[in-house]
Amino acid sequence: MALPRIKHYLINEKYEDPGIVIEIESLGKYILFDVGNISRLDRHLLRKITHLFITHTHMDHFIGFDNLLRNKLGKPHTVDVFGITPLSKNIYCKLQGYTWNLIEFEPQLIFKLKEVDGNKFKYYKFDIKNKFEKELIKIEEIKDDILYEDKFFRIRFAVLEHRIDVLGYSFEYKPRLKLIPERLKEFNLEGKEIGRLKAFLENESNKDKSFVINGKEYKYEHLKERLSYTIDGYKISYITDVIYSEKNREKIINLVKNSDVLYCEAVFLDKDKEQAKKVYHLTSKQAGEIAKAGNVKKLIIFHISRRYGKNYKAVLKEVREIFPEAY
Ligand SMILES: [Zn+2]
Ligand SMILES: [Zn+2]
Repeated sequence: MALPRIKHYLINEKYEDPGIVIEIESLGKYILFDVGNISRLDRHLLRKITHLFITHTHMDHFIGFDNLLRNKLGKPHTVDVFGITPLSKNIYCKLQGYTWNLIEFEPQLIFKLKEVDGNKFKYYKFDIKNKFEKELIKIEEIKDDILYEDKFFRIRFAVLEHRIDVLGYSFEYKPRLKLIPERLKEFNLEGKEIGRLKAFLENESNKDKSFVINGKEYKYEHLKERLSYTIDGYKISYITDVIYSEKNREKIINLVKNSDVLYCEAVFLDKDKEQAKKVYHLTSKQAGEIAKAGNVKKLIIFHISRRYGKNYKAVLKEVREIFPEAY
């Protein structure tokens, strides 16, 4: 067993604009959750961003889109963007806020958007070669809570209440089987045979079957133990800007359950819970409750109200009374 090599962290201080980064260098995937003030992020990283997941477009979650756009210009690139309506309008308006008359000299930059709109996914394309016009590509019925999936990871979502609809997200890195090269040599395995063996071992329904190497039969379990190891799955969830209602609570817990890390807002102290309710945010204790009920391993809080100044430690202290593994 081994842990996957994933880097994840908050973009800003806990009392500044929300947002996290997930870097998976081995796959060349660089993921942003929310795009508030991102001026702290290195421009080399911004150029590499491949995926952008936006909870909603209140300014503190979206003002950095311009910064990202600027860093993306000058190199052919496609950025996959995800979010909830009216995100397509918001992105379109941002892009139309500039004049694009020299685009024949610009490398092709495309923002592809998958937007949750009621019970439909709407797919849009904004292409610099088309002056970032808003092009509706297709509409699809929403069947489950998977927003994005490839061979290595998937992103689930939940629609949550913040007086407007916002999205909560879960990133799930899938467990992976890896072969041990030195051991393969012992079996004189090469080229295509290695691929076949890997496919055989990855499919657990082969458990009682055998695999033939150079005329000799080997049991699944034996080969798996001898020739491979597993990289564990890993789950990171990101929840912000939600009211603590029965419905939200249930949806959030269902989404984040068993996360290795939950990034969750904790905007107010418990004594200010009336204010939290009024502005549709969570308090320290509510964030702690969610982490506990969701059986997460570790909780990282952020979006702490500026009313407490830099003395946000009081919020963290309250969270820890409910959920000690909080940071
Ligand atoms: Zn908000
Ligand atoms: Zn916010």
